[in-house]
Parts: sequence; structure tokens; C-alpha cells
Amino acid sequence: MKNAKLALKTTPEAATTPVQLAPGLAFGAEELVLIGGPCAVENLEQMEAVAAGLRASPVQALRGGAFKPRTSPYSFQGLGVEGLQILQQVGRRYQMPIVTEVMAVSQIPDVVAHADMLQIGSRNMQNFDLLKAVGETDKPVLLKRGLAATLEEFVGAAEYVLSRGNPHVVLCERGIRSFDTFTRNVLDLGAVVVLKQLTHLPVIVDPSHAAGKWELVAPLAKAAIAAGADGLIVECHPQPDQSVSDARQALSVDAMAQLAGDLQPIAAAVGRTLSTVDGTAQLAA
Ligand code: PEP
Ligand code: MN
Repeated sequence: MKNAKLALKTTPEAATTPVQLAPGLAFGAEELVLIGGPCAVENLEQMEAVAAGLRASPVQALRGGAFKPRTSPYSFQGLGVEGLQILQQVGRRYQMPIVTEVMAVSQIPDVVAHADMLQIGSRNMQNFDLLKAVGETDKPVLLKRGLAATLEEFVGAAEYVLSRGNPHVVLCERGIRSFDTFTRNVLDLGAVVVLKQLTHLPVIVDPSHAAGKWELVAPLAKAAIAAGADGLIVECHPQPDQSVSDARQALSVDAMAQLAGDLQPIAAAVGRTLSTVDGTAQLAA
């Protein structure tokens, strides 16, 4: 990794540099960061139902795609700016920071204006112009591992963002392509251990896109925390089988809240904590 100057740490024991997502909430601190929400933002009611169902659980942040990278150009491509507005409105109302994907340099101003964290999707992990451009913002960046990226390529992609002056990069292992098609991808938990030892960047795991099947998500999520991940991003939907994208891997909102609670003993076993959210907190107008 001789070309990674800013991402690497000097010894495996050196500390992770926390990346702040919101006041009092950072990736790479003792407290784990859990992000939940649908694959795609579909409408206001859907996002309200997700936020309302998760806010009393240890899930602190919301996800939802407004710009969707779909395999087919005929599939739903996302609500675009309207989706960003829904995310921002619900995030403010429920006081939950928003993580959403930016697919192109031209979308950056709109995503920066509405979201708390910019997600770079797997398919764009080596879109160097996009990496450089998010590197010129001051927003935290969630960089997902490419579908077939080596760890050297993954760290190199993070280096692009860091080298442009944005130090707020979080890595996300989301499964890689292999020969077995039973699961959508193969979750590489070895990569989590390597990246935590090699880099000072926080590392989180997306068990949803790794598994591709909802019934595999909770066990993989638990394994990820046991392996030392700093958090999780998990897809859930008020009516999973009605999801316009990635329905097969979507948890129900209740199952997501249950999973977040079930992570507690595993978090404690590896010296981490999970947030305790006051579900009775006043909603913002
Ligand atoms: C997503 O988070 O919905 C997504 C498209 O993820 P990935 O880029 O990891 O496939
Ligand atoms: Mn998805």
C-alpha cells in the first residue's frame, strides 16, 4: 500500500480516527453507529414510518437512496431531489442524521445541501472524479467497497478523498463477487479486520447487500460487530415485500429495531456500546 499515505496508521494498535456524523455521534468511537432505512426513498409516509419505528431503538441514523444505481435503466431510478427533500424533512423531525448516495459530480451540491453523509456506492468506488469532488467537500463520506475491489484498490479510493482535503472517510465492507451465487455477494469479514489494523479510518459493514436475503442479515450483522466493525448500515422497509428495490434483502422495521437491541451483548463483549435513545423525546415541528 505504498501509495496510501493518509489512510494508513503506523502500528496495528494505533487508534481509529473518529469521523463525526452529528453532534455527539461519531464513527470509530466507543459507541457503535447503526444506520437503518430503505434501499430507496419511495415517499414521505414510508420514511416517516421507518424513522418512527427506529427512533426508540439504538439505530441513530437513517439511510435511503434518492439517486439509485440500478442494473437496468428501466428500473426505478430514485426520486432525485424530491427524495433528498423527504430525507431532510424526516431527518430533522426525528433528529436522525441522513446518509444517502451521490452518484455523480453534478449531484454533489444537492446532496450536500440535504444530507449529513455522502455515500459513494460500490459501482462508483473507482470513479476518481467523483472521489476527488467529494474530497473537496467537508461532509463525511461513506465509501463502499467495489464489487470486485481488492483492499489495495479500496484504500487507494479512500486516499483520493483524503488527499483532496476531506479527512472524514468511513469505509464500508458490503460483500464482494465470488463464484457462489447462493448469497448475493460474499461478506468479507477478514477485510474488516485488515482495514482496522491497516488504516486509522472507521470501518462499517453492510450485511444487506452482502447477503441479498433478509434472513441472513441479522447473523451477519452480529458477526460484523464481533469482528470489530464500528457500525452497520442495514436496509429495512415498513412493508419489505413492497420495496421498489432490494425487497428480498429488506428487514421489517420491527426486525431492524429488534436486531439493534440484540447486538447489545455482542457490543459489550468487544468493548463497545450501543446508544440508548429516549423514545419519548419531543419531535421537532
Ligand atoms: C445501496 O446502499 O443501496 C447500494 C446500492 O449499495 P452498493 O453500492 O453497496 O451496492
Ligand atoms: Mn439497496
